[in-house]
Amino acid sequence: MLLEIKNIKVHYNKVAALKGVSMAVPDKGIVTIVGANGAGKSTTLRAISGLVRISDGEIIFDGQRIDRLAPEKIVALGIAHVPEGRRVFPDLTVEENLRTGAFLRSDKDGIEADLRDVFKRFPRMEERRGQWARSLSGGEQQMLAIGRALMSRPRMLILDEPSMGLSPVMVQEMARAIRDIVDRGVPVVLVEQNAELALKLANFAYVLETGTIALEGPARELHDNDHVRKAYLGA
Ligand code: ATP
Repeated sequence: MLLEIKNIKVHYNKVAALKGVSMAVPDKGIVTIVGANGAGKSTTLRAISGLVRISDGEIIFDGQRIDRLAPEKIVALGIAHVPEGRRVFPDLTVEENLRTGAFLRSDKDGIEADLRDVFKRFPRMEERRGQWARSLSGGEQQMLAIGRALMSRPRMLILDEPSMGLSPVMVQEMARAIRDIVDRGVPVVLVEQNAELALKLANFAYVLETGTIALEGPARELHDNDHVRKAYLGA
């Protein structure tokens, strides 16, 4: 497994947000975490990226323990995290935003090649490369945030609610982009409110309920599970 999360706990001021969560992410495909508001999905992602400290358990990436590393060290190991809510730099252009994703790299030719690759993947970004990021639509900013993460040439991509606030057409475009990233060999950890979308895209799924894993299994199986259908798919 590329990433192993072993029995982690996270507390915010003594309140437990994660009460012993274990997950595994292989080196290909999509693993999704579904769950209601406040279940601890974002907290799990932040723990992987080192943005919150775990109080118990271990996180192991490619054989190395990472749960005590600073976030920038974790980025340098190849974990790129696109947080909820499209955090692009509004006063930089599209291209400048993308280049900030490569700030840890010094391979100029590789950076130029990856920039061309991102533009190929997201043609809208190329059309708008000189525009301020703030002038993009919500969906375009989300694409830009993902493109910027790809510019770090990650070994693993973490996406928190990529479909949030997007129009149905943009959601489909986003889904295609995520599939394409995975097809090129970058595994994805996906958190989504849209459980229908997440379970369709993913290979494996975890259902998080108030800080514990309630269910896990192949995404297709969970999609057909009665509890999941009632609680998360509105069936
Ligand atoms: P959502 O979909 O609403 O973002 P989530 O499943 O991602 O939900 P988390 O954001 O991980 O859930 O939150 C898990 C729990 O931890 C919630 O009860 C939340 O109120 C609490 N929590 C999250 N961040 C903080 C924080 N910075 N300080 C205190 N409590 C927090």
